[in-house]
Amino acid sequence: MDATQEYKCPCCGAPLVFDAGTQNLHCESCGNDFSIDTMQLLGDGLADAGGMSKYDWKTYTPRNYDNENDVRLADYTCPSCGAEITGDDNLGSTVCPYCGNSTFIKGQFEGALRPDYIIPFKIDKKHAVSAFEQDSQKRPFLPDSFSDRKKIEEMAGVYVPFWMFDCDCNAAVAYNAEMTTAWEDSTYDYVKTDYYKLFRKGRIGFANIPVDGSTKADDKYMEAVEPYKYNDAVEFSGAYLSGYLADKYDVDVEDSIDRANERVKNSTIRAFKDTTSQYSSVEEENARVEFSDGKIRYALLPAWMFTFKYMDELYRFAVNGQTGKVAGEYPVDNGKKRKYFAKIAGICYAVVAVAGFLLLK
Ligand SMILES: [Zn+2]
Ligand SMILES: [Zn+2]
Repeated sequence: MDATQEYKCPCCGAPLVFDAGTQNLHCESCGNDFSIDTMQLLGDGLADAGGMSKYDWKTYTPRNYDNENDVRLADYTCPSCGAEITGDDNLGSTVCPYCGNSTFIKGQFEGALRPDYIIPFKIDKKHAVSAFEQDSQKRPFLPDSFSDRKKIEEMAGVYVPFWMFDCDCNAAVAYNAEMTTAWEDSTYDYVKTDYYKLFRKGRIGFANIPVDGSTKADDKYMEAVEPYKYNDAVEFSGAYLSGYLADKYDVDVEDSIDRANERVKNSTIRAFKDTTSQYSSVEEENARVEFSDGKIRYALLPAWMFTFKYMDELYRFAVNGQTGKVAGEYPVDNGKKRKYFAKIAGICYAVVAVAGFLLLK
């Protein structure tokens, strides 16, 4: 065989030469030896993980909601922020969960997309308010107006639309890994680093990867209130919307697919990496994910939402309507913050003064 042309040293890239004595491939540049089997495994592994990923989702066939045979629903629009909401036909007084405006305009029901399933609210408003209050108590320098309970009680129960992705993948990932060992003798400290090329290959299944279908419900806080527990999911019925709002999706399924692919790939890399804990450092080099017939469903997930306006800035909050997990960015009262730091500075000054006094003695 003409090994010199076929194989390059994986450590330094120099051509390898077949050594008849050891039956190995030898690198004259860095001095390493590799068996032919090892080089073949390496080539196969790299080709496998470096191949093209294939994400093949089934087309989603929408089902329409029928206002005649189901519970009557109506469409509402917020004249202030443009949010489009579906709710029951006689929606009571409700504050817009996205901008705080207090009137919705009722419109003609346009036959909304019928979700494949819904996770009904498990936490009522009272519990959502107290979950939020508990969370906010941990935050420093909140404006006083923030504890206005009436404002917090404006929170609205909103079903947020999600595209849900299920798939069963074949995946191959290549990692570069290092293992360091350290020891010492009476003269020196030694550190030895071994370099590895790791390959992981296998099947991994995903169920209910959520991608937010509403641009109004900010991804930042929607991802922060996850996870939802899907064993509470039930077949959709309009009756679940009574007393609640359902945000209408405005992100098409096609536009959500890239997001789902990214989540599948990242989760695969992470899951396979869990099998490499014996190494001191592991970096992903390449990943290939392949599946066909991935399933897409449309779901409504429950969240309590409200907004808070402070210094012309709108702060949005969400409480998971199933688990009570709170997400959102809190405002900071700069006056309170300044006072607090002034007090600390005052204490430091006093300490310095005492120290100065001790030195003088
Ligand atoms: Zn070499
Ligand atoms: Zn609004």
